[in-house]
Amino acid sequence: MRSARAIFGFLSFVAACALAPEVWSQSRAPSQHIVIAASTLLDGKGRVLRDTRIVIEGSRIVAVGPGSGPVDYDLRGLTVLPGWIDAHAHITWNFGPDGKNAGMNGTNAETAYQSASNAFVTLMAGFTTIQSPGSPTDIPLRDAIAKGLLPGPRILTAVDPLFGRGEQTGTEEEIRTFVRKQKEAGADLIKIFASQSIRQGGGMTLSQEQLNAACDEAKKQGLRTLVHAYKGAVRAATLAGCTQIEHGTLATDDDLQLMAARGTYLDPQAGLVIENYLQNKDKYLGTSGYTPEGFAAMEKILPLEHELVQHAVKIPGLKVVFGTDAVAGAHGRNAEEFIDRVRDCGVDPLAAMVSANSLGAEALGLGDRIGSIAPGLQADIIALDGDPLKDITAVRRVAFVMKEGVVFKNAARSAIPSYSGVQP
Ligand SMILES: [Zn+2]
Repeated sequence: MRSARAIFGFLSFVAACALAPEVWSQSRAPSQHIVIAASTLLDGKGRVLRDTRIVIEGSRIVAVGPGSGPVDYDLRGLTVLPGWIDAHAHITWNFGPDGKNAGMNGTNAETAYQSASNAFVTLMAGFTTIQSPGSPTDIPLRDAIAKGLLPGPRILTAVDPLFGRGEQTGTEEEIRTFVRKQKEAGADLIKIFASQSIRQGGGMTLSQEQLNAACDEAKKQGLRTLVHAYKGAVRAATLAGCTQIEHGTLATDDDLQLMAARGTYLDPQAGLVIENYLQNKDKYLGTSGYTPEGFAAMEKILPLEHELVQHAVKIPGLKVVFGTDAVAGAHGRNAEEFIDRVRDCGVDPLAAMVSANSLGAEALGLGDRIGSIAPGLQADIIALDGDPLKDITAVRRVAFVMKEGVVFKNAARSAIPSYSGVQP
């Protein structure tokens, strides 16, 4: 029985890879009817359901509840939940042929294949949606995945970010023009750098007026704004009406309370991004922006990041979403950030799951499409071998991945490797 299951899991995986276009296009037919059985289901909004079934027609969930009759995917014994959303992953950021950090703007064929691989391992790790803030190279990858030509998470991109450079950034009108230009280039959101890198001190690089102009223009264009901000820039971006703060390190409790009052989302990083830099130090050191001093600073920053998350979870009403800031070396290991948040920062495991499900979807403006297991929503469904509410390391053991009703992974439980980083 065990070996039969293992073979079935392997075959379905091979089928998904080798016959991808046929499998996907067939699976996209609206008549496709799939029933999943679950013994433990996290609905993405904080509820835990027992012994239930999910019925899927085409790409959508049509029913959730008790039932009988044939089952297509028996996920009993696993924990079933909505596909995760990573609010901040640089999906086209790679190492180059020399093994060194090559950034995220490469355009040759090798880079394109690496980016496709990043998307594949991210999806296999249970992430069915990511937000990339951002690079123009995101666009062809986003579009290929959306057309079903490549396996990967749904991608939202900022295209080119607005880099704060003080007065040199431009006048308010020039900033507004920049925002409109990103929209024309296909941006789903606007990314703004309002602080230097924390490795260089994290000082503010945009004035209040410049930030007001950027976030106001984005709003007029119907786009959300993600602001890379530390210290004082957190308050400034919140006052400017920007949608979400990235990182947020060294924000005070007053700043966090203001964010809660204004409904500004916070996307802090509790570990993966810095852990990944330290693990891949030789690949980053000496490349643009990565100095020995910067690396020395990173080790001191990690406890500050933990402190921020520890404070953030205690602020009533503050909406903390899940974002990893995954760069080269971290793709496919995004879920490590859950472990960092729960283990090192006192985040409740169920809240950690919701931060990457319904709350993450709400922050993307997609709460009515993804992030929950409920009738009418897209069938983005994953299953873990283990219960993350009891042992958060279960997030490493993703046994099943469905995106928009299409099964991309269905590994037999006995065959699930604890992934050790598929990234080349
Ligand atoms: Zn980033």
